[in-house]
Amino acid sequence: MEEERKLTIALVAHDNMKHDLAEWVAWNWEKLLGYHLICTGTTGRMVEKTLQERRPAEYDADVAQITLLKSGPLGGDQQLGSRIAEGKIDILIFFWDPMQAQPHDVDVKALLRLATLYNVPTAINRSSADLLISSPLFGHYVPVVKDYKSYIERTVKL
Ligand code: PGA
Repeated sequence: MEEERKLTIALVAHDNMKHDLAEWVAWNWEKLLGYHLICTGTTGRMVEKTLQERRPAEYDADVAQITLLKSGPLGGDQQLGSRIAEGKIDILIFFWDPMQAQPHDVDVKALLRLATLYNVPTAINRSSADLLISSPLFGHYVPVVKDYKSYIERTVKL
């Protein structure tokens, strides 16, 4: 029998928002253990450390599977975007900084655009992340992705 795929949660936070995400991860550590986490580099190291500190010893065997990508400004947001396009991300938690321009603003915009295009459940701050993770549908919800067939097969003038 085919093994059930663990759902994948992407976690990203800009530097000024990392504290918020660390608190959110610390609060939700037990729930997060059941998922595959994928993070941009610096966020991922912070998530790993937070989970290690928070998890009691008796949970030692239940280590969350965490994939670390490149740091956001070095291509990590784009790596996440490509995984969204491949249907490999089920939930995106992205605490982006509304008060500071980022060197990779275009990548941030691209990541949010792809999450919207592929209808990935996305939280952009603590309150939306709290609502998402406390939903009874969290982990079961299967988003409908629009059918882009007519766009793909459109006639282009050559
Ligand atoms: P970081 O990247 O996790 O490597 O800090 C986050 C981002 O800026 O997108």
